[in-house]
Amino acid sequence: MRNFNELSIEEKESLMQRYYEGTESVANILKSFDIQCNPSSIYKSFPPEVMPGKCKYCDTNLIRKRVPRTYSDYMKRPVECGICGHRPENHCFCDNCFKAEEEERRQHKLRIQNYYSSLDLKKIDCNELSFRDKVFMGSLNRLFMTHLEDGLEPYEKTQSALTPGDLTTKAIYTILTDLDVLVPSPDSNPNAFTDIGSYSFDKVKYKVNLTCSDGSSLFSYFSQPHFFNSAMVDNALKLWKIIAAQECLQYLNYKLRKINMPPNLSKKAMDTILLILENYSVSEFYFIVYCVIGRVAEKYEEVKYMTRAKASVYAVNQCRYFAENRLVKKRERIKYDRISDLPQSEISSYFFNVVTKLGDRGFYEVPSRSLLEEMLKSNSTDNTEDVN
Ligand SMILES: [Zn+2]
Ligand SMILES: [Zn+2]
Repeated sequence: MRNFNELSIEEKESLMQRYYEGTESVANILKSFDIQCNPSSIYKSFPPEVMPGKCKYCDTNLIRKRVPRTYSDYMKRPVECGICGHRPENHCFCDNCFKAEEEERRQHKLRIQNYYSSLDLKKIDCNELSFRDKVFMGSLNRLFMTHLEDGLEPYEKTQSALTPGDLTTKAIYTILTDLDVLVPSPDSNPNAFTDIGSYSFDKVKYKVNLTCSDGSSLFSYFSQPHFFNSAMVDNALKLWKIIAAQECLQYLNYKLRKINMPPNLSKKAMDTILLILENYSVSEFYFIVYCVIGRVAEKYEEVKYMTRAKASVYAVNQCRYFAENRLVKKRERIKYDRISDLPQSEISSYFFNVVTKLGDRGFYEVPSRSLLEEMLKSNSTDNTEDVN
């Protein structure tokens, strides 16, 4: 009686071939080679299968350990390196791969840090920013309540929302980073970056590349803003409408979700809302949505093939018909209040309470140039009284 290792190379190969062919009983095969072994564990003595391809770390051929012949293909052992255990086919957790990934992370971090710390950008004077961008920066100043000179923490860490809709938050960050007013900080978490210039806007820290030519701090410049004046009325009206439209959209989305209709609103929807805001306030829009949402739910139930995009357009159009109808019939204006589920965003409270001092009128009144002019007049009267 012999054991498997005592066979010649040719004998070993012949035995393995007969074993894996699967036509003879294993006991018979072992008997013909005069081998004493339990038939169910003979495969454990077989040398591993040598596979094409080499281990990228050890430069030796990859192998595959043997399995019983009854195993199906998917039960086979993985291709691996006999020395370091590296498995090229799977996401590998071998020591070499772990070290390589660590090194890659280190290099990535260095590249990000080197790039963003070597940027030498000329500071921009606050006064050179457009009215809109000043409002954006003032809202961020308010949101983070830190000295802007110290930079901004990642947006995802803030407790309240910058804008009524997440999409517009990203758009604001994009505008400010394109202008080099906000610059990703080298202290950011490197995982927030996929590469230089490619990062999650809400996961990185930012440096604020601004200065005040009059020597005041950025905090006081934006906390007590003096940039709303008669030359800025058109800009302010434009921004009022955009904030109001976003608030309307946010409420409509909220109500659509309540009837299990995932919102999918297009730019066209936004244009329609802006049209409604020519005659209605955000507060009245809330009322309009409240009135039409039942009909929208019914329609959505009724027309099964209606896509989400179509259903959303239908919802916005229903709002418009309803609004137009009330206007023609000169129906009494009914106003709704903000709801606790949708607290006022920072940009809205900064713009209405701090910049224009419209306060709640920004929500309850139709966006209008005359109201802004009225505010300017009363603000300047207040200032005169202060001086006296
Ligand atoms: Zn290896
Ligand atoms: Zn590996």
